[in-house]
Formats: sequence, structure tokens, C-alpha cells
Amino acid sequence: MRNKYMKAKTILVTGGAGFLGSHLCDRLINEGHNVICLDNLQTGYKQNVAHLLSHSSFEFIRHDICETIRLEVDEIYNLACPASPPHYQNNPVGTTKTCVLGSINMLGLAKRNNAKILQASTSEVYGDPKVHPQVEEYRGDVNPIGIRACYDEGKRCAETLFFDYHRQHGVKIKVMRIFNTYGPKMDPDDGRVVSNFIVQALQGKDITIYGDGSQTRSFCFKDDLLDGMQALMNSDDAITGPINIGNPDEFTIKELAEEVIRQVDTTSQIIYKPLPADDPTRRKPNIEKAKEILNWQPSIKLSEGLKPTIAYFDSLLRGEIKL
Ligand code: NAD
Ligand code: UDP
Repeated sequence: MRNKYMKAKTILVTGGAGFLGSHLCDRLINEGHNVICLDNLQTGYKQNVAHLLSHSSFEFIRHDICETIRLEVDEIYNLACPASPPHYQNNPVGTTKTCVLGSINMLGLAKRNNAKILQASTSEVYGDPKVHPQVEEYRGDVNPIGIRACYDEGKRCAETLFFDYHRQHGVKIKVMRIFNTYGPKMDPDDGRVVSNFIVQALQGKDITIYGDGSQTRSFCFKDDLLDGMQALMNSDDAITGPINIGNPDEFTIKELAEEVIRQVDTTSQIIYKPLPADDPTRRKPNIEKAKEILNWQPSIKLSEGLKPTIAYFDSLLRGEIKL
């Protein structure tokens, strides 16, 4: 039980064994909080938090957020959801359930505890955007019956639920729209572009560009992203978002492939494969709100952030890290 004189908070991180969640657990433990990491291990690995398991302030619970759970918490970071297109399309009904039922359950938990809750929303709420760069006011262009809709519409509905729990029940909410983020502890097999290209380059295999590689993304290193996430959670209660957090440096996918080839110094060749349906043609966050409201902006360039990311995948492929 928490001592009322202790300043440490009890913080629930759903999806805490995933890429972003596991780094967040590290940060919160280092700050002296009690952390409950809840994850069904659908796309995450217990290994990502293995070093925390013996820590007295850390608890791992294997649980699906589509099921209710009773816990005593002060804050909730709701990160549970597969993030890579191949993973979230693998069980699309499950993805929508995680976004919608999972959000209802976590919002209910926040309501019972009078806890603050942050939602890891996504740039995908803008779909294939007709407004560029994307501002928070833009309502997006999502194909509601397409193969990405389970995620895009699921996350849009989650945002609706967050704002309705806020208006109807007074729940303290923080909605963060995350743009493509990369770094160590991404799943090497999850099919996202940064992990695919690095693993392919390290193995000397062909680098698979989908389409002609002219589509763009703006890549944020995980440390910058987590700074933004924590700044939002720790901001005044009046700040609900939605707020874009991402790096506005925009690259074509071909430019990303060339940078990875240069840094890995590989003999891999670029090959072209069909573009998946509804693949957004361009994406870049407008981060003026984050700058103004949170005093946050990213500082790590793609060329810098790729270095520790490549080193991580190299260690993994050499067997120095096991998942
Ligand atoms: P990830 O796949 O590495 O992590 C997600 C974690 O959630 C995994 O550990 C998985 O096992 C867990 N999970 C999935 N469904 C669950 C369920 N029903 N119950 C309990 N746990 C469940 O992905 P990530 O990149 O760390 O993304 C974290 C969050 O941030 C996700 O909500 C994602 O939608 C959001 N996001 C990420 C990015 C990005 O570029 N990384 C971009 C936009 C939004
Ligand atoms: N992509 C690619 N090769 C790959 C994986 C992805 O060219 O091996 C492309 C994909 O079609 C998309 C971009 O890279 O245009 C980003 O894909 P990712 O799955 O990382 O994220 P999202 O599309 O959700 O932004």
C-alpha cells in the first residue's frame, strides 16, 4: 500500500512490454515511481522489461485490456495496441476491440481512481492527408472500409471516447497523436519500415521499398517522443490535446533506404514491391502546438537516431540480446 507521505505515484503503462512502453517503464522507474506494466504480449516481449522484473517498484501483469481489471493507480499511459500495419491487420477485429473496448476499460479505471489518463493516438487519424503538414484541427481522410481502418478508425473512436469521458464524467485526459517513431527495442519482425530496412541491410538482403519510394514519413527518435509524452502527461489538467508529437523532418522512403544503406555500409540492393492499399502518400506533423503549450520540440536528427537503432539490431542479430 502507498504511504500517503510518499511523492511516488503509481503509474499504469498498458502496452508496457512493447517498444515505446518498455522505454517509458524505464523512465518512470528511474524517476522513483511505482510502475505497473500491463501487456498481453501480442507484439511486445517480456524480455523488453526483464531487467525491471526484480525491481521492488515494478510489477508485470499479463492481461488483455479488452478485459476489465481493478487496480489502484494515479496515472495511466494507454499504449496497448499493435502499431505496425502487418501486426494490426493480422487480427483486425482484435485491433478495433483493443482500441475501443480497451479504451473503455482504461477510461473506466481512470474514472474510478480519479486518475489522469494519456492516450497514445496516432497520425493515422489523419489517414491519407489532404492537408500538409498535418495540424490538429485537420479532421483527416480515412477510408472506413479499408485494410488500415481497424487501426485508424479504432484510434479515432478511442479519441471520441476520451473526449466523451472527459465531458460526461470529468476524467482528466491527455490525447497525443504520435507520428512515426523508431529506436532500439522495436520488434525486428514487426514489418515497420525502419526495422525492416535496418535488418535487411545488416543481413545483406534486398531492401524492400513498397511502391516507388516517393511516399514520405517524418521519423522521430524514441527519446524525443517520450520527452513529449511525459511533458503532455505532466502538463496542466486543462491541457487535453489532441496534440501532435513527432519530428517534422520529412523524408521519402527512398531517402530512408539510402541513409540506412550508407550507415550500415552494406551491399544490399533496393528492390521495389507493390504499395499496400491506402498507404498514405505523405506525412509530416505541424508541431507548433507542442512547442507553444509544452515547450517541446525534437532534437535528434534521423542520421543520429539511426546509429543506436542499428547498433541494437546488430546486437540482436549477433545473439548478444535475446527476445
Ligand atoms: P508495440 O507493438 O511495440 O507495443 C504495443 C504493446 O501493446 C505490445 O507490447 C503489445 O503486446 C501490447 N498490446 C497490444 N494489444 C494489447 C491488448 N489488447 N492488451 C494488452 N496489451 C496489448 O508498439 P509501439 O510502437 O510501442 O506503440 C505503442 C503505442 O503507440 C500504440 O498504441 C501505438 O498505436 C502508438 N503509436 C506508435 C507509433 C510509432 O511509430 N511507434 C506511432 C503512432 C502511434
Ligand atoms: N514500407 C516500405 N518497405 C517496408 C516497410 C514499409 O517501403 O519494408 C513503406 C510503407 O509502405 C509506408 C512506409 O514505408 O509507405 C512506412 O511504413 P510503416 O509500416 O513503417 O508505417 P506507416 O505506413 O504506418 O507509417
